[in-house]
Amino acid sequence: MTHIFRRQRRVFASAGVACLLAISAAVVQGRQAGRIDWSTVEAETLEHFQALLRFDTADPPGNERPAADYLKRVLDRAGIPAQEYALEAHRPSIVARLKGNGSRRPLLIMAHTDVVNVDPAKWTFPPFSATRDGGYVYGRGAVDDKDNVAASLMAMLLLKRLNVPLDRDVIFLAESGEEGSTRVGIQYMVNQHLDAIEAEFCLAEGGSVVRENGAPKFASVQTLEKIPYAVELVARGPAGHGSVPLLDNSVVRLSKAVAAVADWKTPARLNETTSAYFRRLAEISPPDQAERYRAVLDPARIDEADEYFRRHEPRHASMLRTSISPNIVDAGYRINVIPSESKATLDVRALTDEDMPALLDQIRKVIDDPAVEVRMGQRDTRPWGRDPRIDSEAFLALEAGFRRHYDIPSLPSMSTGATDMAYLRGKGIECYGIGPGIDTEDGPKGFGAHSDQERILESELHRFVRFYYEVIVELAGTK
Ligand SMILES: [Zn+2]
Repeated sequence: MTHIFRRQRRVFASAGVACLLAISAAVVQGRQAGRIDWSTVEAETLEHFQALLRFDTADPPGNERPAADYLKRVLDRAGIPAQEYALEAHRPSIVARLKGNGSRRPLLIMAHTDVVNVDPAKWTFPPFSATRDGGYVYGRGAVDDKDNVAASLMAMLLLKRLNVPLDRDVIFLAESGEEGSTRVGIQYMVNQHLDAIEAEFCLAEGGSVVRENGAPKFASVQTLEKIPYAVELVARGPAGHGSVPLLDNSVVRLSKAVAAVADWKTPARLNETTSAYFRRLAEISPPDQAERYRAVLDPARIDEADEYFRRHEPRHASMLRTSISPNIVDAGYRINVIPSESKATLDVRALTDEDMPALLDQIRKVIDDPAVEVRMGQRDTRPWGRDPRIDSEAFLALEAGFRRHYDIPSLPSMSTGATDMAYLRGKGIECYGIGPGIDTEDGPKGFGAHSDQERILESELHRFVRFYYEVIVELAGTK
């Protein structure tokens, strides 16, 4: 055997082994997917989903205990030991782990069990009845976030049942308190029990498959979220009798300050996520809209696009900047008294790289009145780590999954609101927000997250479960 020949043989042999390995992993996974009877899975999904919707976990006051107990029972019964973590006894979070071989770092899949409040009078079907009607399931939490709870639960059950070989541990977290009491939920987990949920990647709520006219258009994958701050404006002036108007009335000073801030256009700028978002959105939009989304990417034309957004697409305008919305005004207490102090609270949603002291200085300049103090207010403000990558293994797996199951592109997106993922990103875990298909028309009709009513298409829930399971196998399964 010549040296060259030997080398060639070695190349052939190693290529053959690599090929064999690739095939065997794929075949194993394929067989597993083939072994799944999806109609049985759908019945099981619906059973768990409806059971979860029927627990009234409205927050406040927040009583996630029954939902947490249910999840623990189901997981324990399946042979996946689940552990409870509770800062307050009636508000536990549940964690369960499927062990991988440790060759890659864990994957965390999480969803929250609490829901926002309801006004039962506004519901056609009772809000905790999980009524099925016309292809939908109705109930508070149907799209925020018991859909993700059910999908994560089903993924765990299927991975265990099929004994899928894993490189990564897959960690399930159903946390309490996302809707305004993160202290008992994600903060407690991150600050006291990080070792139980530490992972390389995390999948959670915050994205969706956007459907228009009944067809999936794109997947919104949340990679980034703005950081909420409270900023207070406090105007001071002399008190006096209402019958004798004063030019330096604190209410008047405050009104002028609020108006000045509201009129101020904070600078528009892009980051990696928003650049990719507008570029990809342009690719799937009709010509006039596409033109506008492309203009965002051109420094010479961003202002003109921004002006349009401010009037017609305010969410897009907010994605371009640190936004300021004056939402609380607290001034005066009786008709005949000029109050000596008036206060406004601004809801500031900062881009992740915002310099807050510098922003406060700019606000002072804009107001231009030394009698108005500008200061930070109290708010549960999220820490920030680093922006997640949009070319990570997790993002690419999601992208491939959305292509395969829905035939749509994935748009990385920056939430203007805040989610529990911020706390994990603060610890260096790369998190991506996803969700099932939702008709864009459904929100304005009053059936969206936090709306008067809430519902999900059964078919989209099932499609999402299948997508979710296969993405997890792809991402955590043995290569
Ligand atoms: Zn939510």
